Amino acid sequence: MILILNDNADPSSVEYGRLMAALRLLPGIEVKVHRIVGELRAVTEVYLIGDTKQLSADEMQALPCVQHVVRVSEEYRILGRHKEDSRPSYFEYQGLRFGQDTLHVFAGLCAVDTAQHVERMCRALETNGQTCTRMGAYKPRTSPYSFQGHGSACLDYVFDIAGRHGIKIIAMEVTHESHVDEIRDALRQTGSPTGVMLQIGTRNTQNFELLKAVGRQQEFPVLLKRGFGITLDESLNAAEYLASEGNSKVVFGLRGMKTNMGDPHRNFVDFAHVPVVKRLTRMPVCVDPSHSVGSRARAPDGILDLMHVTAQAVAAGVNMVLVDFHPDPPKALVDGPQALQLSELAHFLEDVRIAREAYLQRVEAAKRHHIA
Ligand code: PEP
Ligand code: MN
Repeated sequence: MILILNDNADPSSVEYGRLMAALRLLPGIEVKVHRIVGELRAVTEVYLIGDTKQLSADEMQALPCVQHVVRVSEEYRILGRHKEDSRPSYFEYQGLRFGQDTLHVFAGLCAVDTAQHVERMCRALETNGQTCTRMGAYKPRTSPYSFQGHGSACLDYVFDIAGRHGIKIIAMEVTHESHVDEIRDALRQTGSPTGVMLQIGTRNTQNFELLKAVGRQQEFPVLLKRGFGITLDESLNAAEYLASEGNSKVVFGLRGMKTNMGDPHRNFVDFAHVPVVKRLTRMPVCVDPSHSVGSRARAPDGILDLMHVTAQAVAAGVNMVLVDFHPDPPKALVDGPQALQLSELAHFLEDVRIAREAYLQRVEAAKRHHIA
């Protein structure tokens, strides 16, 4: 809670002394005073830190010198970006930094199908200087008769192959807390040749028991996908569930919203929320162009829709791109129609670099104009 004092409130006045005496009596509340002395006036803000829910805004308002009271949002307490918040907005994993200022591409298989495809995918990534990938072993599917992923049966060879190609992190969805143990066991079994970023998919964004279980471990960071049919606020609160259980290494993933307003894209692309999530929280933000666009449609300029939306997100400062590739899309068991081909990887990465450069230039321009 913040108390904004009357203009020119005088710290040596009797009134001011009475205010401070009253604040000192508040149990468990720390009082921090910020006084900004300008040319025309002095602004004094008093920060009340602690369990301020118990305080009545009306009673605070009635104290001497108080002009108005601001109740700082209780939302996203740990992951949120609060006023005067100097906590870092990054974390490190496997020697890589994930922050609101970095960018990593996680190109890879939507679902692991064969060891040969994992090998070809990882080799292409290594050739193109990539150290992160996506590989789904546990796949939530709309139809119970569709391929659900190889599960723990593929983990050993996936970790092994990835490690041999210098892959440091694999984004891998978990749909049940037991999958976390299976991943941990398989990593130990294979000598931890790589790392895993646990992914919570859009169908599980509000699976609170799964969130709590994944939040209780701190070994693996988490990519939480936004729920495709809930508000942004609800999805950000889902991320806060992870942090409230102890794991604040969370990346927030935008992946499109379920509505026919986005047709003919598979989902309505919501990448305009990249700066919004960065403003509201300290989480790095990821976009998934594959599951939002859902096809290989190409614009008349020769650029795939999928690459257009990726570039839009990167130019807006996104920190991670999760994208489906496949060495032989017609043979993919999941989401073949939206997969990019390995021959397109170099072009995709070049397009990302161009957009990133544009973003960095945009930040510089903003600084210049802001100063002027
Ligand atoms: C995925 O990334 O494989 C996936 C299923 O994504 P989403 O949960 O966003 O549908
Ligand atoms: Mn998919």
